[in-house]
Amino acid sequence: MKYALAAGQRVEASPDGRATCPTCNGEVIAKCGSYRIWHWAHRGMQDCDSWAEKETEWHRAWKNRFPADHQEVVLHDGQSGERHVADVRTSHGLVIEFQHSHLDPKERTERESFYGNMLWVVDGTRLKGDYPRFLKGIDRHRPIINGHFLLAFPEECLPKIWLESSVPVIFDFRGVDASESSDHLKNVLWCLLPGRAEGNAVLVGMSPEQFVSVAPSRAQLIQVMETLANISQVLRELRAQQRYWSLPLPPGGRPLRRPSPRFWDFGSAVRLSNRMRHPRCKSMPKHIHQVPDQ
Ligand SMILES: [Zn+2]
Repeated sequence: MKYALAAGQRVEASPDGRATCPTCNGEVIAKCGSYRIWHWAHRGMQDCDSWAEKETEWHRAWKNRFPADHQEVVLHDGQSGERHVADVRTSHGLVIEFQHSHLDPKERTERESFYGNMLWVVDGTRLKGDYPRFLKGIDRHRPIINGHFLLAFPEECLPKIWLESSVPVIFDFRGVDASESSDHLKNVLWCLLPGRAEGNAVLVGMSPEQFVSVAPSRAQLIQVMETLANISQVLRELRAQQRYWSLPLPPGGRPLRRPSPRFWDFGSAVRLSNRMRHPRCKSMPKHIHQVPDQ
């Protein structure tokens, strides 16, 4: 942990420092070696928070981008008596957990239900294959609306464990290296929204600076329900438009009445129709194939 209590103050570890744990009041000892980042550890090394993990440089660097009083906030469930330390909790009640290590899906679900209003930031550099797979997957899809991407096959692009998360999951593929990468896709944080829009996973791209400046100012980083509803609407309108064009001409060959102007004005839907094709699928993506003929 980064902070412990000494004389009622939150203090960082310094050589020979002694303090108490803000969660359990147990004694903690300063660990100030050259191998790991300086931190406080419980005597006997067993942390009182069963979810605590060895803090990496990446983890600490992310926490440091938020105000000190938003970092390491102890949360207590009055009913179960459970206590856990949120990496970051903003004054609007949004919990941000930075996840470097592998996480069991069961524990992921437990943490999501304990923190409620939360999002994950995942270290996308831990496993060598994650970024190449992401690149391959994202390459098949184009942005559709303001930096939103649709993934018809998210499992081809992102680590499985995060696909069913009930909260937004942000992938950080740049890792601890804070310098700008020549690979512009690495400089972007990719946020997978929970839920699906007409069967598609939705990824939202944002810069780390945007994330750090916006996250503390809102109860939710992204209005998930609203975003999914808007995208679903675009997809439905597109489908209706395609259905119209696939109707056979009536006897005599006179074209049908033009569809309502709404479809013609819907720029995004038209752009979408040009861009949504999955390269392995010469015609339209699956969910559009599934439209019943009338
Ligand atoms: Zn403790």
